[in-house]
Amino acid sequence: MAKIILAPQKARRVESGHPWVYDNEVAQTEGTYLAGDIVEVYNHKRQFIGKGYINPQSHILVRLLTRNAKEEINKDFFKRRLQEALAFRHLQGYEHTFRWVFGEADFLPALVLDKFGDCVVLQTLSLGMDKFKSLLVEVIVELVQPLAIYERNDVPVRELEGLPQQTGFLWTKDLAAAQTAVKQGITIKENGFQFKIDVAEGQKTGYFLDQTENRAAIAPYVKGKTVLDCFSHTGSFAIHAAGYGAKQVTALDISEQAMQSAKQNAALNQLENIEFITANAFDLLKEWTKNNRQFDVVILDPPAFTKSRQNIHNALRGYKEINLRGLKLVKSGGFLITCTCSHFITPELFKKVLQEAATDAQKTIREVTFKVQGKDHPILWNVDETLYLKFYILQVW
Ligand code: SAH
Repeated sequence: MAKIILAPQKARRVESGHPWVYDNEVAQTEGTYLAGDIVEVYNHKRQFIGKGYINPQSHILVRLLTRNAKEEINKDFFKRRLQEALAFRHLQGYEHTFRWVFGEADFLPALVLDKFGDCVVLQTLSLGMDKFKSLLVEVIVELVQPLAIYERNDVPVRELEGLPQQTGFLWTKDLAAAQTAVKQGITIKENGFQFKIDVAEGQKTGYFLDQTENRAAIAPYVKGKTVLDCFSHTGSFAIHAAGYGAKQVTALDISEQAMQSAKQNAALNQLENIEFITANAFDLLKEWTKNNRQFDVVILDPPAFTKSRQNIHNALRGYKEINLRGLKLVKSGGFLITCTCSHFITPELFKKVLQEAATDAQKTIREVTFKVQGKDHPILWNVDETLYLKFYILQVW
């Protein structure tokens, strides 16, 4: 097995819990390896740090899988990790639908598994993890006997690893039944509401499980109110609002496909007081401000405006702009419910941008709730990337 020796001063981050070794942190390499092989990582004093897979094509050269020198990386290893991740979700009270593996935070870098009832959606976002795909499929089948395992590897980040983008079934118990189920949509339950999920064509893995608990948190603020759900996607917040007794709900998304799915989900829950608008939120919110349209509650759950550190400045402008527009639409004493899902926008940065937007909009805001992603997406300390979702409920005057 090849050995990667880190440069002095460069090992600290990895030694204190981060699983990534960057290519510019390496002092020396001993032995040979192929892309995707397991290698050992040492500090410059030749103390063992961990073992992981290597990809010389990626700026992230090695991602550690274990810090135990004796642990073999084989099928048993993955079975143990997946079992531990499953037991942890069950401990938390999740039963049918949850994020089963959240990559680095479950000590399985670059692996995402979402379990939607008896359908498991898989993403392998690095070459090293991708090489274990068929092994992972075997383990998943042994552990949960799903109807289907569906691959959603249509993620651009794979190209940094030299991997193609691809989607499709990796395994089915019964191909015809699995095809029908995916075509009709997989039905899940969340906080007592039903959602039909399109694991093949929906965004990311089909549904954003990270907001499950945050959606429940809106209940006290929407009853009897008018609610705008911007960046609505499957209509999840809109449906929660209507289900929690909102008087009238408006769901808005730029994607026609998203609004179709939201409509279907509203019907599934027999909710009739939701209107669906396909439009650009930036434009429509501006127009509504001009026309003095107001809501008791405005929800903003935009996509990550940046996926890189270089772009933070532009992203902050985007967050400020949309929150400014959202704030202007909230009736005095109403609520702004606002999120960022970019890990580059730290809680401090997000707070700062919201305060700036409030100042510009001449509004006073009072923090009611601050939450992060759901607990099936745990935050691993010293791995900053694992804290990505920030969610505020703010009262506005
Ligand atoms: N609130 C959703 C997730 C939103 S994901 C949920 O809980 O599941 C972000 C959504 O924003 C996507 O559905 C995308 O289509 C939409 N979107 C992106 N840019 C937009 C824009 N300028 N105006 C309106 N919607 C936009």
